Amino acid sequence: MNDLNFQNIKNVSNDPVKLSAIYHSPDFEKNYYYPEELGAIYSPDATTFRVWAPLADFVSLCLYEQGSGGKLLQKQALHPADHGVWERTITGDLDGVYYTYEISNFGVSTETADPYAKAAGVNGRRSMVVDLSKTNPPRWENDTFQRPEHPTDAIVWEIHVGDFSNDPSCGVRKEWRGKYLAFTEPNTTLPDGRTPTCVNYLKKLGVTHVQLMPVYDYGSIDETQAGKAFNWGYDPLNYNVPEGSYSTDPFHGQARILELKKMVAALHQAGIGVVMDVVYNHTFEGPGSWFHRTVPYYYHRTTSEGKFADGSACGNEVASERCMCRKYIIDSVRYWAKEYHIDGFRFDLMGLIDVETMNRIRAELDKLPDGRKILLYGEPWYASTPAMPAGNFPADKEHLSLLNPRIGVFCDNTRDAIKGDVFFRHKKGFVQENLKFENDVKASLQGWTRNDFAKPLAMAPTQIVSYVSAHDNLTLWDKLIASTKRGRIYTAYDEEMVRLNKLCAVLYLMAQGMPFLQAGEEFARTKRGMDNSYRASAARNRLDWKRTLEFSDLLDYYRGLIEIRFAFPMLRDSSVHTAGKMKFVDSVPGTVAFTLRDGKELLFVCVNVLSEPAEIQLDSDLPKDWIIIADGSKAGIVPFGKLHGNKFLLSRKSALILKAEVV
Ligand code: CA
Repeated sequence: MNDLNFQNIKNVSNDPVKLSAIYHSPDFEKNYYYPEELGAIYSPDATTFRVWAPLADFVSLCLYEQGSGGKLLQKQALHPADHGVWERTITGDLDGVYYTYEISNFGVSTETADPYAKAAGVNGRRSMVVDLSKTNPPRWENDTFQRPEHPTDAIVWEIHVGDFSNDPSCGVRKEWRGKYLAFTEPNTTLPDGRTPTCVNYLKKLGVTHVQLMPVYDYGSIDETQAGKAFNWGYDPLNYNVPEGSYSTDPFHGQARILELKKMVAALHQAGIGVVMDVVYNHTFEGPGSWFHRTVPYYYHRTTSEGKFADGSACGNEVASERCMCRKYIIDSVRYWAKEYHIDGFRFDLMGLIDVETMNRIRAELDKLPDGRKILLYGEPWYASTPAMPAGNFPADKEHLSLLNPRIGVFCDNTRDAIKGDVFFRHKKGFVQENLKFENDVKASLQGWTRNDFAKPLAMAPTQIVSYVSAHDNLTLWDKLIASTKRGRIYTAYDEEMVRLNKLCAVLYLMAQGMPFLQAGEEFARTKRGMDNSYRASAARNRLDWKRTLEFSDLLDYYRGLIEIRFAFPMLRDSSVHTAGKMKFVDSVPGTVAFTLRDGKELLFVCVNVLSEPAEIQLDSDLPKDWIIIADGSKAGIVPFGKLHGNKFLLSRKSALILKAEVV
């Protein structure tokens, strides 16, 4: 087993335990790491098919006329080349030709799509050769987006492509509803003709980026029946191909590419960046995956008993630490950034990916033009990964100090401190008067970078994604209802709930870090109490755009807070400097108040979660003339009132944000 050359690796048995030992050996990396491009490498004169299959006895290429069914055009053997690669060049213009590989490993032959495919037929079972230059929308070469300087200058709004426009009253033409192209429909409104919806709405919200829930090709929806079923799509089938069910034509591989690019261009034109939700931690199937069919057990971790490890709870986990798997993930992320002009990546269950891979992704993105401003963050949840070999570290919350400071994590401490535990619907957070979270709320405001109130988590605010709701768990509105009105489902306007919602918004939008919100949180989105709607109906999931009218005061409040965040750079500091300057004011339990000074500018932010008014007294050496920029009902940089003195009465369950000039 010490002499791992290309000849004898084929003599090993199909034993996952033995294979795993080989795959982890430095000799394997030395002999089989292949640094060049893989896949169907297209030119108008010829296409080179190149696949990495070091264990294979033979590999054949099958060319098809169609993405499913239809006739086999030809079948050609690939030739073994160096480092476990097989390849063959076919002359002629193959743009739009579908293909698969027939690969024999351990004497058993299987047909597989190309893991490196850039295009695919309906349902992704056949790959497609594509001339990408023909998939660009008009003026694609001029497509630009002014990426914010630092992650802390971004505000990310998370949306599912279908949810964005599945509401029949959203103003998007029927055939584009639920599709990529809905984002390209200009000037959409509610039936009243006045109230903006969709991208027209986003232009005025103030968020800098949308985060798209999976748009790579996933396996759970039958694309021939698109629109009949709903899924979030956390089941990757083809990592480098767009999902077909969001396309108006899933049968022709070019359409989904063109339409996704049109969507990106339309968002960029509206001044909004695009973050992709990527799921490199597991695949749709383990044994059935293209990965496993091509190189058995290579791309997935296995247990000491030889079973697929399952840290994802989705049946398998990807072995990111292995050299060709790491290369795969890095190549894939770079491809989306370059080919689709993607401005950020949100890593699903990043805790299953190793630190080294995440840091290398950051370094590779940094090399792209304007690449340092590409956002990179993920879920740092602890996932038991006994199958990750020693010497590697999971990119989870415990290992933040090993990650590049420009890799962020969703901060569940902030989320749960503000509005309560996500796993128990009745549990309350600080805004529902659970005062035990007061110190955690203060630490959240400091971006978890200091040890004044709690154990610090991050090296800089750029590592902290501050949020209170995302696609998982109850919507913020449903959580507030569930934790205060036990057992009731309540979707109509409720003054008390709106108060609590506004307090949540103040606490994370005024915090150091990168704010993030689930689409519609700002207009009281509800899924009628459902905490996991990943395959519920489209109707349950979709944004109900009429709520922007019904909850217009809440929506205006969010807009105002976002304005305030952008008007005061100290709220967006990418360094730990500002967190150290926040002066917390002594006040009664149930209130949190701090002042923050930058040059002549002084901000005072305070919240009172109590059911009665509370008095806050500031130091006597502070200015006495204050301008109100937010109170319990309104927020915004256009001042709407003044206060004099250093003692303020805060109404029940409300916030107050003031500014003053230091002379
Ligand atoms: Ca699909």
